[in-house]
Amino acid sequence: MDQTFVIIGAGHAGGQAAATLRTKGFEGRIVIVGDEEYLPYERPPLSKAVLSGDLEVMRTFLKRETWYDDKNVELRLQTLVTKIDTANKSLTLSDGETLAYDKLLIATGTRVRKLDLPGAELDNIFYLRAISDTLAIREQVRDGAKMVIVGGGYIGLEVAAVGAKLGCEVTVLEGLDRVMNRVVSPEVSEFYTEEHEKAGVKILTGVGVTDYEGANGKVTHVVTADGAKHEADLVVVGVGVIPNFELAEEAGIACDNGIVVDEFARTSDSDIFAAGDVTNHPNSLLDRRLRLESVQNAVDQAKTAANSMLGELKEYAEIPWFWSDQYDLKMQIVGLSEPDDDVVVRGNIADRKFSICYLRDGVFVALNAINAPKDFMVAKKLVAAKKRIDPALLADVDTPLKEM
Ligand code: FAD
Ligand code: NAP
Repeated sequence: MDQTFVIIGAGHAGGQAAATLRTKGFEGRIVIVGDEEYLPYERPPLSKAVLSGDLEVMRTFLKRETWYDDKNVELRLQTLVTKIDTANKSLTLSDGETLAYDKLLIATGTRVRKLDLPGAELDNIFYLRAISDTLAIREQVRDGAKMVIVGGGYIGLEVAAVGAKLGCEVTVLEGLDRVMNRVVSPEVSEFYTEEHEKAGVKILTGVGVTDYEGANGKVTHVVTADGAKHEADLVVVGVGVIPNFELAEEAGIACDNGIVVDEFARTSDSDIFAAGDVTNHPNSLLDRRLRLESVQNAVDQAKTAANSMLGELKEYAEIPWFWSDQYDLKMQIVGLSEPDDDVVVRGNIADRKFSICYLRDGVFVALNAINAPKDFMVAKKLVAAKKRIDPALLADVDTPLKEM
């Protein structure tokens, strides 16, 4: 009752942790400190339905405002935590106040990686992480606008799909030889490239961006290393993210490409926990440590962290899963594939409904389901069970995965 649990970061993991603490019956004080102006919200719609105008911003909130009042969860929004004093168990806030904690959860997520190129200060060059970014991009999107996207990852391709739908002339510039290079097989990259091209999006791979040119303070062109100039009314850059762990590191908490936690989301300080994009955590199902950037990870690890804060240790070990919506294509990914995995195509790619199965030394380790939600559901179990499956059987669509 008289304990104070503070959560740094009013994002997906932070919001989830507060909800779990109350569901589990914690009756003490909960304070969420977040630097953004909005209630904790989910980001996936920002590059999809919010950007296209099909979903209102407030529909992204994890809980309504009344929930925080009803559950007595204090929100300190537009407030940055600037220092963690582990010896005195207190935080310094950007408004100069200090806030004492009994237990602390760090859920500070990631920030966008910026491209420090000549001309980067010009107007109409955007990144996409927060609601404010989506709203700013949306203001510049209009029929016929020339949208140049730097990065053919998730952000780049989802924004390209929305841009094309809204009538923009879209060009995607990707440095590597294919889009979504690190997360999907060449078959999937090729399929998505063709789908984008059918929608009128120009995809250029193997092109490095060198600088931006502008006029009257606004971007007009993106220049690539081959000397080409791509005309732009607006530019959206999606070249990955950087974990926000400096605050923890400065406080002496062990960090290594993120905040180092154990399977119970405990950091090197016994009163401090961490969850979400910012953690470097072990996964016993994958036999390795990793840092993940996904909603599944934010939600599941936040639940584990909340339990641990209450003294109930439940291991966090899930097979990672993700999704991406582009046009009418829903891609669902389970597991983490690697370039050397053997690939089996299940179904006919031309039908726009198929799965790509990844085998490592004969073990089914990952799957990309494109408009094939049943495969995705079953694959979650098969991958977790580390099943060895005959590739010929996987390729046979007449044999349901659940029979394997
Ligand atoms: P965040 O949600 O980033 O929350 C961290 C919060 O902490 C932020 O508000 C940050 O400003 C705040 N903060 C940081 N430092 C401080 C400080 N010192 N003091 C106070 N506050 C601080 N994942 C999927 O699985 N599927 C998708 O389709 C998908 N789509 C996405 C689309 C977009 C446009 C983006 C940006 C991300 C998407 N993701 C998707 C990724 C997913 O949103 C993240 O993995 C998830 O938000 C991570 O949650 P988190 O709580 O760890 O971090
Ligand atoms: P991302 O998925 O990591 O992709 C970044 C892309 O940019 C990669 O293809 C990368 O290629 C490329 N790139 C890097 N540097 C470049 C450069 N200098 N010039 C051109 N291309 C470059 O990151 P993101 O798309 O920016 O997304 C940001 C975050 O949001 C991530 O955490 C992501 O998981 C999340 N997100 C997720 C979804 C989803 O799950 N559906 C949707 C949107 C956003 P290299 O391989 O060469 O580095």
